[in-house]
Amino acid sequence: MKSGRGIEARSRAGQFGAHMWARRWVSDLESVVSRGAAQLARTDARKDKVLSLGHSGRTVRCDVESSRPQPFTVEFRFAPLDETDSEALRTALRQEENGVLGALAGEFSDTIGFLLLPAVHGATSYSCHCPVQPGPCRHVLAAAYIMVEWWDASPQVMFELRGLGADQLGAVLRGPGGEGDTVGVDVEESLWGSDPLLPTVPSPAPAGLEDLLDAPVTRRMAAAATNDPLEQLRVVADLEDFLDAFGDYRSR
Ligand SMILES: [Zn+2]
Repeated sequence: MKSGRGIEARSRAGQFGAHMWARRWVSDLESVVSRGAAQLARTDARKDKVLSLGHSGRTVRCDVESSRPQPFTVEFRFAPLDETDSEALRTALRQEENGVLGALAGEFSDTIGFLLLPAVHGATSYSCHCPVQPGPCRHVLAAAYIMVEWWDASPQVMFELRGLGADQLGAVLRGPGGEGDTVGVDVEESLWGSDPLLPTVPSPAPAGLEDLLDAPVTRRMAAAATNDPLEQLRVVADLEDFLDAFGDYRSR
């Protein structure tokens, strides 16, 4: 029965997804369709009918096989964090067992998951070009099931889906208009000033500049710069930009 063309679903029966926050989100989508419609979509996902999954910023796009010659393209759009979300996330990140950078790497509690993935009806916008409107149609649901399994494997993408990717982080934290830098600590002074808080060099030495980003040295640099978890993320984003620029001078 399997077409074998698309993304293989891990769940063979019952619910999709291991995380409570993702299950809640998918239940919210299912809440406006009949049990039968949801079951059809589950079967579609398990028959590998979701052909592709790609994301860019806050948008996820999936092609889903249908009875027509061309697949339908499903698109999900996640809202950026508003002021209330940002404040709640900032507070929650301070209490994370693995710290803010652990959370950024995908090791975060359900509390963070629920904040990153709101499940209020209408919070996630989706579209499909099939005749079933406004949906969610079976294509949207099948894509959602595969997306939930993607989050099991890579929960860290949730930050990017809410507009907290490395590129956007600084702008999100600065607020609308990009005015008023909110970093209360002089990063340059704390790292390179008269009394610098320099971290120890990791051992063994990193193989390349890229390794520094995941290494303890980066975490210590961010922690030395600020106590604010979201601003620590911003420091890491700035370090990424710096390393990108620095890479241009590497000897070839
Ligand atoms: Zn559809």
